[in-house]
Amino acid sequence: MQKGHEITRGKTKVLHELVGQPDVLIVSQLDTISARDGERTDTIEGKGRIAAKTTARVFRLLNLCGVPTHYLSGGEDDDDNQMLVRRAQMVPLEVVVRGVAAGSLVKRKPGIARGAVLSPRLIEFFLKDDANHDPLIEADAIVARGIATPQEVATMTELARIVFEILAHAWRRRDTLLVDLKIEFGRLASGEGKGSLVVADVIDNDSWRIWPQGREDLMLDKQIYRNLETVTAGDLLALRDTYEKVAETVGTFPQMRAGMVAILADGAQHAALTSETARAIGQFGLASVRHVVSVERTPGFLLQLLAQIEVTFPRLVLVGIGEPGSAIFGVLDHLSPNPVVRVYAGAPALETAAFAVAKALAMDDTVVFGRVLLLQTNVKSAILQADAHLNATPVGPAVG
Ligand code: 5GP
Repeated sequence: MQKGHEITRGKTKVLHELVGQPDVLIVSQLDTISARDGERTDTIEGKGRIAAKTTARVFRLLNLCGVPTHYLSGGEDDDDNQMLVRRAQMVPLEVVVRGVAAGSLVKRKPGIARGAVLSPRLIEFFLKDDANHDPLIEADAIVARGIATPQEVATMTELARIVFEILAHAWRRRDTLLVDLKIEFGRLASGEGKGSLVVADVIDNDSWRIWPQGREDLMLDKQIYRNLETVTAGDLLALRDTYEKVAETVGTFPQMRAGMVAILADGAQHAALTSETARAIGQFGLASVRHVVSVERTPGFLLQLLAQIEVTFPRLVLVGIGEPGSAIFGVLDHLSPNPVVRVYAGAPALETAAFAVAKALAMDDTVVFGRVLLLQTNVKSAILQADAHLNATPVGPAVG
């Protein structure tokens, strides 16, 4: 990989061109840490490398979930503070999602108690404007100033919410509360999806507040640095260790836990339906095994098969397929400790079944959880679009 010329340099990162690939940039994060509008700045040796690792791992998780991001590869190896991203034109906004009241929110709104759970999540936009200390900006002002279209504001809001929920899920599985999060967006400069919004910039331990066990006093993020009265060399070393620990934890986020779906059809006549069910479940990237059984004719085979599947796959969801009166549903419900989803031949609600399967596995798999969120959002926006289309088409008076 050959670095081309420097494109831009911020307080905490530098962007270079990649020689021979005009659509790809190299992001390297710096060893700088700053707070109070840059009034306080320090260097923590190795912080850039740690931040690159955190960012790359967060983006890899988001990509696996299907969230559009600028991330391509790199940034994760110890000596590789070089993350490859698609070139994008940055939208000059910081999008903040809050699940719990803290930071500037409680300063601005003393009526909101620090630590209060915010439901729904609060999404705020801040204009990137150093001279004016990144002021809060409302959606209509973003549109009026030509920063983004109403559709883009809606997309950023929805994607920011999804990114927050995915990371909150991942942290929750490590008994840690994601309090709030800041992300930024860019419009892809070229290639597939040119002009469309992607999550861009970096997402590292400076971008969020994280409280282990929901306790602010155990915080692991940059707020530790912001809160210091004075900064000593020892403080900076301790921060470095904390940032490293966070990067290691984030490294475990993108792993998809191998869950398995076993699809069992009661009767050979439903063999084709097992394939359709597997396809619907495949939308979530979930693997499945399929079998035809007969509760009445070969009950021993069903029991043997079930026992074998259960010892082979520790994280298992069963899908039973049969006529509404089939005994397979009761057999699976009573013999297996794993979740059972029913598909009735004749009225197979495959999308519903696929969602039920994915939700069961999403409880302890953040990648599947993210895919569920994204598919729900796509379904919702398809409905809203269909409604908008319907109402945009004038209906003439009834004749007759
Ligand atoms: P607040 O507005 O409460 O200060 O910050 C809200 C969230 O956005 C916090 O998670 C904070 O860490 C993050 N945040 C706010 N400003 C910045 C910034 O300039 N850079 C980064 N990386 N994160 C920020």
